[in-house]
This record gives sequence, C-alpha cells and structure tokens, in this order.
Amino acid sequence: MSDAQRPDTLRPETLIATAGVATDPAYNSVSPPLHLSANYGWNDPLDKPQYDYARSGNPTRTQLEEALAALEGAARGVVVSSGMAALDLVLNLVDPGEIVLAPHDCYGGTHRLLTARAKRGQFELVYANQTDPAELEAAFARKPKLVLLETPSNPLLRITDIRAVVAHAKGCGAIVVADNTFLSPVLQRPLDLGCDIVVHSTTKFINGHSDVVGGAVLARDKALGDDLAWWANCTGVTGAPFDSFLTLRGMRTLFPRVERQQATAGDVVSRLAADDRVANVYYPGLVNHPGHEIAKSQQNGFGSMFSVEFAENVDVIELLRNLNLFTIAESLGGFESLVCTPATMTHAAMTPEAREVAGISDRLVRFSIGLEHTDDLVRDIETALDRAVDSGAGKVAYLSSGATSKCA
Ligand SMILES: *Cc1c(COP(=O)(O)O)cnc(C)c1O
Repeated sequence: MSDAQRPDTLRPETLIATAGVATDPAYNSVSPPLHLSANYGWNDPLDKPQYDYARSGNPTRTQLEEALAALEGAARGVVVSSGMAALDLVLNLVDPGEIVLAPHDCYGGTHRLLTARAKRGQFELVYANQTDPAELEAAFARKPKLVLLETPSNPLLRITDIRAVVAHAKGCGAIVVADNTFLSPVLQRPLDLGCDIVVHSTTKFINGHSDVVGGAVLARDKALGDDLAWWANCTGVTGAPFDSFLTLRGMRTLFPRVERQQATAGDVVSRLAADDRVANVYYPGLVNHPGHEIAKSQQNGFGSMFSVEFAENVDVIELLRNLNLFTIAESLGGFESLVCTPATMTHAAMTPEAREVAGISDRLVRFSIGLEHTDDLVRDIETALDRAVDSGAGKVAYLSSGATSKCA
C-alpha cells in the first residue's frame, strides 16, 4: 500500500506497522530500504531534486519523521541526532531577553543545557515547580516565550497538568513544548492536549532496543515544523540514515513493548509497595500519588518507570551492587531492565542544592522495567534487599566520592 492510499483514519498501531512498508519504487522491497548516500544526483543544474544532500534530507529519515508525526498527531516531524539535539533545536525559537520557563526537576541533561545557554545570555531562564498552581501562576506572570513541560518528570514521576499549562500559555502567546520521552505517544499525546511541540529522546521507548541515540521534534503546526526543519539543517543536528532505519525498525513493536513493560511495572510496584523495607514509591499509578488523578485524565496508562526511596536501614549502593537482572545504567525505556541512583548518575550534573530543591534525595533509586518476567524481577530485588539490609545499615558514603559532570 503506498502512503497516498493509506486512509488517515488508521489506528496508530496500524500506522506504525505499515509505515514505509512496500513503498520501494526500485525493487518493491517490503521492508523499507536503507539509503546511506550522503548526496543525490541532479538530472539538470536547474532542476533541484527532492533529495540533494543527506543533512538536509534523506528518504530513510523522512520515513521515520512521517511515522513519528503520525503517531503524535503532528503536521511535521524533524529527526535529529539525540534527545538533547531535539531540545536544543527548539531553543532556536527564542531570542535574547525572552524567557524560557522550565520544570525545576527536569531531566539532568536538559537542566545542564538550559542553564549553560542562559548563562551565555541566549535567553532568560525561569525554573518552577509546574505541579504547583501558585508557582505556575507566578511564573506565567513573567510572560515566558517558551514553556518546556516534562510529565511525568524524571526521576520523581511528578505529573504536570498539561491542559492547565496550555491555558496559561494561551494567555501570553507562549509556545508549549512537551518532552514526551517517558511515556511515548502510546500513553500520552501532548499535541491533542494543546501543546505546540513534542520532543523525544528516541533513544528510549521509541527505538526501545538500546542501540541508537536519537531525538525528534514534532510540531502541530506545519509552519512551525518547517521553521524547525530549517534550523536543523542550518545547525547540522539532523539524524543519520542508519540511526533512522534502526529507530523505525525498533518502533514497529512500540505498542506491544510499552503495554507489556507497563503491566510488569504495575505488578512490581504493587509488590514493592507492600515491602516494609520500602519507604516511598513514586509511581503515578498508585492512588496515593499526588498526580494520580491528573495522570488518569491526560495519559492512557502509567508507564514503566518508577522510583523508590528505601528505608533508612537499606544501603542503596549495596542494593544496586546486588541486583543481577537490573543493569546499573542510565537511560530507560529499552527492552532491558535498568536501575540507577539519580544523585550519583543521571542527575549528578545538578548541584546538591538544585537536587534538594527538586526533591531528589541521595537515597532515591530509579527503575526502568523491561521485558523480563515480573516474578524474576521481584525475586531479584528481594534478594538484593536482603543483602543490602545486612551489609551495613544506613551507610550512605557515596556522595563524598564527588559528583561528576557526567549526565545522561
Ligand atoms: C534521555 C532523555 C533526554 C536526552 O536524550 P538523549 O537522547 O540522551 O540526548 C531528554 N529528556 C528526557 C526526559 C530523557 O529521558
């Protein structure tokens, strides 16, 4: 079926299963071919072809851009080399003196990027707890030009009311950008809720196989999408063909992966929440989570990420050392379960003060649930907990080893 024949009423599961399939004009290949060529010939010097140079565009990247745009309900997608490149791309929309409003507990790399660019005078930066209506009101009184949302937030899974932010933004003409990395379009479609732009680290759920670093920017409005595509070509942050090929391939299983990982995460959370060595579980699916009701109103599910504060007598570093099925690693959303301590890993680039303001304690452990069986994952955590409680109660020595500026 050619793209032109595809009805626009297709369900997203079907859109992604059929994206680019059997559209190859050269050999009628069923799986889309990979076009690695850096440049494309012109038939005539006055006749600019559809593709001339792969930074500006290439057929493999176009297929991924169209598939992502369809899943998020965007008019245009731009695929770039990483999630950070995607976030940096949208910062081209603000001028010096204009205000960017961002969540105080955003992804560590985003925090570093915004702070560094603001220090160079590229815009003014306001961090706020966007889940607090009074703080949101005060922040919008300053008339931001661009508002960045990240919901659920990383690593505390705080939920921002997207519709409320959009309503504020309408009042001052701000562009609303949602980082949808944590849920993917399977579980949340921010453009449907009134956002202007969705940003993804496709490294995470979208590719899902932990073998590509990539990013994407999806714009609801065509003109805005064209503007972003212009900047992506101008600054050279566009994605490579091979990465696009792998990402489209990984994305074909996005729905079954996200659904299975979410079901397993829900099971692991309920078993952990009942363990007396656990002090706090941060998961929007729990009815006592402060964002539970908002999550229900704007998400199609609660996802497969959660964070845990263990009881005082648990040495969290020993806990991580004793896990076998969870790899100690940054990143999330892949087929494999991962675990990290945000204070020493993903959020080490934030100052201890900034972490404290964001509520990220040294005892916090973040889990990303993969495709393994629930029983095996729970047993692994319980065994590691037995050892971590025995191994030296409450010793938290790791902060003295010094936070590095590493951050992913
Ligand atoms: C990983 C991540 C990013 C950065 O993406 P990269 O692909 O690593 O550059 C941005 N936002 C969120 C929420 C992330 O999890």
